[in-house]
Amino acid sequence: LFVDQPLQPGALVTLDKAQANYLFNVMRLGEGDTLLAFNGSDGEWLVTVEEAGRKKMSLRAERQTSEQERLLDVTLAFAPIKKGRIDWLVEKAVELGASRLLPVVTQRTIVRDVKMDRLEAHAIEAAEQCGRTAVARLDPPMKLEAMLKAHDGHPLYFADETGGAPAIDSFAPAPATLLVGPEGGFTPEEAEAIRRAPGATAISLGPRILRAETAALAALAAFMASTGD
Ligand code: SAM
Repeated sequence: LFVDQPLQPGALVTLDKAQANYLFNVMRLGEGDTLLAFNGSDGEWLVTVEEAGRKKMSLRAERQTSEQERLLDVTLAFAPIKKGRIDWLVEKAVELGASRLLPVVTQRTIVRDVKMDRLEAHAIEAAEQCGRTAVARLDPPMKLEAMLKAHDGHPLYFADETGGAPAIDSFAPAPATLLVGPEGGFTPEEAEAIRRAPGATAISLGPRILRAETAALAALAAFMASTGD
């Protein structure tokens, strides 16, 4: 269970209505039952249900059960795509260990407004489901030009399906940013601007045209597999 409160020996964690409902009505837990909780910075903790009353629902932190995971500094920068698909992309990026998710608005981006709270809930749910102790940071959407201007020169792998990009022979170790375009791809001007960015390398993900969310997943999986983290 994700809790946004400190976790240390004996700490009392109060639950909000939704969490209480989930634990007591869905998971059928009661006072004295134990479960695992994390808050994204203190690792994973064994906690005991302290109070499961109508008014007050709380947990008591007992002991840490696993260290806070070392987050590999990997940003997945992706052009927002349709609702169901972006949810899936966020969930897979969290499972694959991305530390930061950055929606990038490009000329051909169809979906302009990103429902941040819904995506954050998906990221937390994905972390809970796959037992991570860190939740990827979800940044608000940025325009491509602004993102390139802010880029500090660390490796920027640009998934380019237009041909000519080399297959990935090796990734530099993190920190890294993986950039994937929208359903309609990047415009030639955008691709040019990306190539000119410091640290940018165009990469091919094979000869087939992948959906944006598939490309994001493929690029992230390739990176994680190559760095073994
Ligand atoms: N040009 C594509 C088309 O004809 O449908 C549109 C873009 S594709 C659906 C979405 C994004 O996924 C691309 O902008 C690119 O970043 C990435 N992508 C898809 N297939 C790829 C591949 N084989 N190699 C590298 N990137 C790929």
